[in-house]
Amino acid sequence: MQGLWLESGSLDFREDLEEPLAVRNETRVKILRAGVCATDLALLRGYMDFCGVPGHEFVGIAIDGPLRGQRVVGEINASCGSCDTCKSGMEGHCPTRTVLGILHRPGAFAEQIRLPTANLHRVPDSLPTDWATFAEPAAAAFEIREQVALSPGSRALVQGDGRLGLLCAQVLALEGLTVEVSGRHPEREEWLPNGIGHLGTEPNGKGRPGYDLVVEASGDPYGIVSALNAVRPRGTVVLKTTTEPSPEANGDLDLAQLVVNEISLVGSRCGPFEPALDALNEERLIVAPMIEAHYPLSEGQRAFDRASQRGVLKILIDVNDDDAN
Ligand SMILES: [Zn+2]
Ligand SMILES: [Zn+2]
Repeated sequence: MQGLWLESGSLDFREDLEEPLAVRNETRVKILRAGVCATDLALLRGYMDFCGVPGHEFVGIAIDGPLRGQRVVGEINASCGSCDTCKSGMEGHCPTRTVLGILHRPGAFAEQIRLPTANLHRVPDSLPTDWATFAEPAAAAFEIREQVALSPGSRALVQGDGRLGLLCAQVLALEGLTVEVSGRHPEREEWLPNGIGHLGTEPNGKGRPGYDLVVEASGDPYGIVSALNAVRPRGTVVLKTTTEPSPEANGDLDLAQLVVNEISLVGSRCGPFEPALDALNEERLIVAPMIEAHYPLSEGQRAFDRASQRGVLKILIDVNDDDAN
């Protein structure tokens, strides 16, 4: 089958990839569309020493299993289901998990993938395929709600006006928080719903605006430094992006601040798909303005190049035709 193969920092279109075989409790999925994510760009730079087919944000059609013939999206962590971590309900943290397109499981920049059937969610008929490719990052934004008690009316700052930041800001606004976003693209305020304000570029580490909640989604290694400066005493900082290690930024990190101000620091990764699909379908979560371009699978390298340009939000790769099921 066709797919994109990432190895030693290069991405190649190949037509000789093995189709996934049928496996019990797993479903094969014909990929319609897949989104290029910052994690994919990091993999290309060498993150995780990844070798194989990347891609984890997808919409496809189930080839077999109970959802056969239906449009689906999928949670990306495939866990063993039987270890203590899994049994305690933390399947996403299973020590032997594989992760679609990231860790020991071929990803969605290919004609077909395979995922545990339990990971799949049916896409509502009224939800366009393009929008549904945001289910995975939108679910990650909804994870904040699972981890932190959000009180309507409290003030939140989202650092970073990239895709994940804009999704997090929208989810917090849906929960009734007063939300401001900082970042390099104030023009994005135009289409942000629910009165979300854009502050432009925040000067790093100046002042103490006293936000109840700061979500760091800028991907900047100094993001945590400015987040700790922006949050109020006993406030919460949620870290949403995995930044590459930066000894300089870590040197500027004053952990005593955390103690003195009794700040809660929360790491936050993948989240629940159902509220994400509902919000996308009901247009409570706006994603259409983030889609910059589509590329065919055979032009994967160009798609990645475009996705890594500054200011580009979302690049989608068209794999199979929607109507060819
Ligand atoms: Zn992603
Ligand atoms: Zn497990």
